[in-house]
Amino acid sequence: MDIIWRDSAAKDAYEEARVGRVFNHRRPSRFPLAVVKATSEEDIVKAVKMAVEMKCRVAVRSGGHSWAAWSVRDNSILIDLGNYKQVKVDPENSVAIATPSMTGRELNSALIKDHGLMFPGGHCPDVGLGGFLLQGGMGWNCRNWGWACERVLGLDVVTAEGELIHCNSTQNQDLYWAARGAGPGFPGVVTRFHLSLNPYPKRGFRSSGYVYPISLYRKAFDWLLSITETFDNDTEIAAISNYPEGSDEMCFFILFVVMKDDPEEAEKALRPAQETRPDGAIDEWFCREDSLEEQYDKQEGANPEKHRYCAENAYINNDADVPAVLEEAFTTLPHRKAFSLWYAMNPCSRRKLPDMALSMQSDHYFALYTVWEEESDDARCQAWVKDVMKKVERQSVGAYLGDSDFQVRRTKFWADDNAKRLMAIRRKWDPQGRVCGYLDEDDKSGTNGLRNVHEWKL
Ligand SMILES: Cc1cc2nc3c(=O)[nH]c(=O)nc-3n(C[C@H](O)[C@H](O)[C@H](O)COP(=O)(O)OP(=O)(O)OC[C@H]3O[C@@H](n4cnc5c(N)ncnc54)[C@H](O)[C@@H]3O)c2cc1C
Repeated sequence: MDIIWRDSAAKDAYEEARVGRVFNHRRPSRFPLAVVKATSEEDIVKAVKMAVEMKCRVAVRSGGHSWAAWSVRDNSILIDLGNYKQVKVDPENSVAIATPSMTGRELNSALIKDHGLMFPGGHCPDVGLGGFLLQGGMGWNCRNWGWACERVLGLDVVTAEGELIHCNSTQNQDLYWAARGAGPGFPGVVTRFHLSLNPYPKRGFRSSGYVYPISLYRKAFDWLLSITETFDNDTEIAAISNYPEGSDEMCFFILFVVMKDDPEEAEKALRPAQETRPDGAIDEWFCREDSLEEQYDKQEGANPEKHRYCAENAYINNDADVPAVLEEAFTTLPHRKAFSLWYAMNPCSRRKLPDMALSMQSDHYFALYTVWEEESDDARCQAWVKDVMKKVERQSVGAYLGDSDFQVRRTKFWADDNAKRLMAIRRKWDPQGRVCGYLDEDDKSGTNGLRNVHEWKL
């Protein structure tokens, strides 16, 4: 087991182990005691037991894509799972068992070609299964196929005491309940996810796109909202404001991605948008052949490596005037690489969710993905995000853990009863706060967890 100690390793080696796999280049000033590079389940057990003996906390890194670098915590033993990548596929039963540092792209490349199966992981190809699934997982076609964590059949977990256990709907049910929505507050280390898979819709994977000048923001957004509720049930719908590559003009881009078995069905699904779209698009395409791999490439382009990021999000009230609430966010981007997103959640948001920790959603998911390059832009870009969110949050019901930073903004992440139950489960399984949990301001939340209240209402 490779261990890099803060006080004895070469400075460069320690720094690489501390943040080398952290996606956000706005690096935190937090310093783990040691980084354990685990390559097996046994390594994870050993690392947790070492932390118990040393009476220090444990932090975990799977894909390293948490925006706020939740894996980097002062005086902790950081268990980095980057070298622990395994997947086992049971195509007969459409089940895969995957380790948490497997990314969406890695998992799907093991599934699509050989088995014609897929798993709706994160949109960005390199998001790790670990962080993504624990917080719910807004995966491909979430509005129709539901939350990715609904496909977690079970998981193997090393508890805060260093014991390896299995959790599912009949064994250690409370941990299984918590694992689907606790996010970084999960009180253990997941070593494997058992996942249910769906067929990969290769023949009918299509997309339509409509790019409007930002001056048509209101008209285009109103139209989009008017067609979303009744739109086809295999189509993912998103609206993004951004600067398209090579353009100086901010645009409002609407994307429909349909995943069907049959190309004719795909075309039929996309046709209502094509036939009712407002005039004025500066670019558009209808029912273009597409694939998960091509979508991954586009996501990768929009979220480049080695950049500085500040993400924020909110679930907007279903009865709000959504284009008005989001107008500032969509029309005043602070950097050419930044973008704002509206992501349709209806009908998923109207269904009764399974009994699990994840319990917050609305029809309208909104997120800011503020991207920039230079440290000198940090203050300006972060101030823009804070300012926009101060107004937007008053029209929101809560937020998604996955695009949040609890050091900066506190809101609701679960229904009230779910939050209470989750915090109690955390205290039962980890009474000493061995696993770092939620990173709030000054990292002091410990076993209390998050308060789950809108700060602006206090
Ligand atoms: C470019 C980009 C695109 C994204 N797109 C999406 C998207 O489409 N949908 C979506 O839902 N989210 C998305 N996210 C958010 C992303 O899912 C979260 O940031 C998630 O936490 C990343 O998981 P990770 O394992 O890569 O991160 P990490 O930073 O490795 O993990 C985050 C935290 O999760 C916990 N954790 C991780 N693994 C384990 C484990 N094995 N056991 C116990 N706890 C663990 C730990 O607290 C850890 O610090 C995106 C993020 C980025 C940067």
